[in-house]
Amino acid sequence: MNHRLYYQDAYTTEFTAVITDRIIENGRFAVTLDQTYFYPTSGGQPFDKGTLDGRSVIDVTVREEDGAVLHWLDGAMPENNAVTAVIDWPRRFDHMQQHTGQHILSQAFIRIAEAYTIGFHLSDDTVTIDLNVNKLSAEQLNQVEQLANDIVWQNRPVHIQLVTRAEAEKMPIRKIPPTPTNEIRLIGIEDFDLTACGGTHVLRTGSVGLIKIVKVERRGETTRIEFRCGGRAVSDYGRKNDTIQELMTALTTGQESLVTAVSSLQDENKNSQRTIKKLQSNLLEYQAAQMIHAGQKTGEFILISQVFDENEGINLRHLGQHLTQQSGVVALLATTGTKSQLLFCRSDNAPGDMNTLLKEALNQIDGRGGGSAVMAQGGGPGVENGRLSQILAHIQQIIQTK
Ligand SMILES: [Zn+2]
Repeated sequence: MNHRLYYQDAYTTEFTAVITDRIIENGRFAVTLDQTYFYPTSGGQPFDKGTLDGRSVIDVTVREEDGAVLHWLDGAMPENNAVTAVIDWPRRFDHMQQHTGQHILSQAFIRIAEAYTIGFHLSDDTVTIDLNVNKLSAEQLNQVEQLANDIVWQNRPVHIQLVTRAEAEKMPIRKIPPTPTNEIRLIGIEDFDLTACGGTHVLRTGSVGLIKIVKVERRGETTRIEFRCGGRAVSDYGRKNDTIQELMTALTTGQESLVTAVSSLQDENKNSQRTIKKLQSNLLEYQAAQMIHAGQKTGEFILISQVFDENEGINLRHLGQHLTQQSGVVALLATTGTKSQLLFCRSDNAPGDMNTLLKEALNQIDGRGGGSAVMAQGGGPGVENGRLSQILAHIQQIIQTK
């Protein structure tokens, strides 16, 4: 454990070390060092990035067999045994802010809501904790956030302490994880929180900057809390502010009226949709009446046949319904374009088996579909308007000769 220097000092970002082992695995290169400040992925916190003699460290892991820290490189190993290491400080400090903020937030949830943290996850864009409760009021969440930020602003010291398991068990510790070693590392926030943790933390709570809960998600018996600390919270605030500014400009209104403005837009849109539907229906009714007027009178019934371009946006089913409301109508309707659609229908008292006729038409365009004697529909690949009209004329002939 002693060669992991970040355990005692999270602020050193440049150091020299000696390569103790060189590993090549599936074409990837890694080295172990006699001592390191690089944090390997563990305990819900991602690894540090940086360089070894100018070569990028792209992953840091722990070898299970012996606990060695493996520094994975983006290419061949440095030639020298002694290397200069540099840790990507903005990334490390971001992790320190999020991780220390998590300790504060977890303790605040215990004090305000008796909610215990059972999971923690930190990635490049999200930080979450899972709580063992599934009910939290808005007031509790406000109180938790207030308490957590009070602790930040009081700038309390954050202590690191190494104790034995036996010693730890006598202390008021929030969480003792099962570890293979007898030595346990404790992180204490003065007079507020004490927990076992292997991560990197800031020296005083003030460095966390601020803690903001951004999302609360109930998941069965537990609750997932998404939050942001320090720099991440400030970036998030910036993005949200930009979004609100854009919305205010687009809707020409102030921040306080945004929600009302959006909801009245939604209402307007709903009304417009209703009006459009009504107008479309009126138009179809008018179109149907015209088609019946122009239809071919064959004995007792009227035969209608028409091919539309798909761009006309005709709803064949609705048009068919309007047409066959009238008695004695047989309608052969189609649209074509990128694909063909056919709908054959008739009034109850008109002759003809629409299903059989439709299949006859579909056979000629490699289409599929079916239905009943009164109404059948189907479709196939797009064919020329003229070709489809010919097919409908052929069907018309069949009806007339029968
Ligand atoms: Zn921690």
